[in-house]
Amino acid sequence: MRPDHINSDRSSILLIYTGGTIGMKVDPVLQALTPFDFSQILEEVPELSKFAYRIDSYTFDPLIDSSDVEPSLWIALADLIEERYSDYDGFVILHGTDTMAYSASALSFMIEGLTKPVIFTGSQLPIGIPRTDGKENLISAVEIAAAKDDEGHAVVPEVCICFDNVLIRGNRSRKINSDNFRAFRSENHPPLAEAGINIRYNTALIRKPEDWTSKPVFWKCLDTRVSILKIHPGITPQVVRNILCGPETRAVILETYGAGNAPSKDWFISIVREASEKGKILLNVTQCIAGSVNMDIYATGKSLKSAGVINGYDSTTESALGKLFHLMGKTESNEEVKAELERDLRGEISK
Ligand code: ASP
Repeated sequence: MRPDHINSDRSSILLIYTGGTIGMKVDPVLQALTPFDFSQILEEVPELSKFAYRIDSYTFDPLIDSSDVEPSLWIALADLIEERYSDYDGFVILHGTDTMAYSASALSFMIEGLTKPVIFTGSQLPIGIPRTDGKENLISAVEIAAAKDDEGHAVVPEVCICFDNVLIRGNRSRKINSDNFRAFRSENHPPLAEAGINIRYNTALIRKPEDWTSKPVFWKCLDTRVSILKIHPGITPQVVRNILCGPETRAVILETYGAGNAPSKDWFISIVREASEKGKILLNVTQCIAGSVNMDIYATGKSLKSAGVINGYDSTTESALGKLFHLMGKTESNEEVKAELERDLRGEISK
């Protein structure tokens, strides 16, 4: 990892507040947690003014608990970033932690050719509470979003999550803890940066655009006809058929055991075949929090492969969902979607 980069004092950041725990403080009258006004962000987090960046804020209305996040929010975020793209050096999105990994994954696919940082952060404790992790998370996210290299390019032109002093690629992230400050992990990919006394960037792993001068492409058409089937002992043919062959389903993410294994029973494989023959897109990701699918090791994996199931490699479910929404929104051809699923589009899989 290389040591931290110099931040230009003139960097400008758009801070986008969507909701979640981070933006809460205790209302002295109501004696309850209520969202605070982010236009006053420098008063609430005076540490930010020491950076001398220009920090503007944009607050979504209504603010939402991230359990209510829908693809429409991702489209609204993409719209906003597209509209303001040339006005800012980086974007920081404050978001509830519950679905942050889904949103960061989706946005990573929706923006192609990113030349500026889009950094998600949030907190486990509201910013108005003395032991909050929100201030640290916000300050680090802003510093990373503003960081430029010697040539004036963004150090991290990627969609990421910055949390508890670690910066991870958005489409590699998972929420793994509901009450610890280390809420997110990226088990299959090393962090892109770590914030200690200095912020140390893992520059070799950070993706760079092919052309720093062109504007990214914003893909805002999403097809959400995806189901997720988590395989478990005792799963019944009825449940498997309903999920795999449902008329409204265009794709199914199969969350399988270990290296991509599922029951070897005839009824199971024959339903998978039936779904595949109906044209459904079937994607295999592992239930394990680390490691990859390999359908060539065990007989059960081989039968899935021969039934037409696509290898999801070491993708998280969150990333697989965003990738499918995006690819299916781009084309009506399931064959094209299948071919693209096998490709590493935004650093989301290791092949
Ligand atoms: N339920 C909250 C949310 O995801 C939790 C949080 O922000 O940490 O919006």
